[in-house]
Amino acid sequence: MESNSLSTQFQALSRAAGDEVYPSLAVRRDRLTRLEAMLRDKEGLLCDAMNQDYGHRSKRQSAFADITTTLKSINHARRHLRFWMAKTPRQVDMSLRLTGARSYSEYVPKGVVGVISPWNFPVNLTFSPVVSAFAAGNRVFIKPSEVTPATAELIQAACSEYFQPDEVAVACGGVEVAKQFVELPFDHLIYTGGEVIAKSIMAAAANNLVPLTLELGGKSPVMIADDADLSQAAKKVAFGKIFNAGQICIAPDYVMLNPAQLEPFVSALEAALQHMASAHDSDGVDVVNDRHRQRIDFLVDEARQAGADVRTVQCGAYRADIVINPDADMAICSQEIFGPVVVVRTCNSVTEQLAEVAARPHPLVAYYFGRSSAGFEHVARQIRCGALVKNDIIFQYANDDFPFGGVGASGMGKYRGIDGFQEFSNLRPVFKSGAIDTSSLVTPPYPRLFEAVNNIMRKL
Ligand code: NAD
Repeated sequence: MESNSLSTQFQALSRAAGDEVYPSLAVRRDRLTRLEAMLRDKEGLLCDAMNQDYGHRSKRQSAFADITTTLKSINHARRHLRFWMAKTPRQVDMSLRLTGARSYSEYVPKGVVGVISPWNFPVNLTFSPVVSAFAAGNRVFIKPSEVTPATAELIQAACSEYFQPDEVAVACGGVEVAKQFVELPFDHLIYTGGEVIAKSIMAAAANNLVPLTLELGGKSPVMIADDADLSQAAKKVAFGKIFNAGQICIAPDYVMLNPAQLEPFVSALEAALQHMASAHDSDGVDVVNDRHRQRIDFLVDEARQAGADVRTVQCGAYRADIVINPDADMAICSQEIFGPVVVVRTCNSVTEQLAEVAARPHPLVAYYFGRSSAGFEHVARQIRCGALVKNDIIFQYANDDFPFGGVGASGMGKYRGIDGFQEFSNLRPVFKSGAIDTSSLVTPPYPRLFEAVNNIMRKL
């Protein structure tokens, strides 16, 4: 696609956003409703396309993880939008209140939001930001991932069927298109993907002072306390490595536990993986392509060659590896795994576990397994992470009123629910002057009363 075509598409969106600065509640709900209709009507085709792009991706998983989750977000936004859009009265200083002044704040649309989405949930991670952007009254320009091309092309065709080109536009293509896309002067840009590309996007956005939301990844730890239910923790970790074959930004990356917990946990994890993978042919998902398979295999092989204990669970085409106590300088200890592999490390105390987390960039999520509330609260006050989850894994994402996003290297900004509505809005304060004009008291040439007024104002 030519860059002038991208800029023509952008200009159409931008012009329309300028012509309709504040879409009504009804207009926003209508866009959300059309998005819902599109996903419902195209569900079968979208699930087929994701299956084609992955080689093998369970249609039931796609229906749940990509379609249902997005439909839930749409419903949540439609139900709450009236309240999100309400004006909020703001307190006015006594000195101004005496004159009759009033103030409020309101969320107004930013204009055109750019959405750059990844391949791992190519429908949900494209349209979740769109739900927030629509709720906030914006128009949207989407750049889906080239790693899932059939899904991207279907998204493009479907959007042109259900939306006007000045409401939603879609640019398909590879890195060259992506590079041109990020040069556009968006009113806001949201990128979901890896950290390296995020840096180049931030640099490109700086040229136009485009505000950014960055949804990145990292190594999300699982902290297992001494009083944890090991069988529950193992089942949840196994789910995180079976679901989408662990290609999830909030997947558990490494598990920390005390040495006595190691064997019982690993046995329970192997059994849970074996059980869940037994339905791989119908309900499983493959690693997305050979390049990613090789990347994951390299991480495991390097650790194995350096002496790490590797346990493999193989079930048909599904293979998961549990890598126990790899050397700290192995790539598997610093790179995000993003696949069906989990590292298990022994630590002698919670303090040691916290130090492991603190030694790495802040994760997108930290998972904690343990029964005691005090143990959890202690960790909550000691750890920096995008989100914190107790005794569960990944299901926090099913909560629509859950601000989603990272901190530090795992991202910036939060979206979904009211937080997405606010992220893609301009919080605009409004001030209405009162009927009594006292401004001459503090306007040059200053009157004799100026000192007295100035002193009174300091005390109000
Ligand atoms: P990817 O390769 O699909 O890239 C993501 C997007 O970036 C694509 O649309 C691609 O076209 C675009 N892109 C590629 N090069 C670009 C460039 N030079 N300039 C602008 N855009 C460019 O996906 P990926 O990066 O392999 O995704 C995996 C990463 O994403 C992991 O690190 C994962 O943790 C993270 N992730 C984060 C979230 C989240 O919500 N925080 C969700 C999913 C994935």
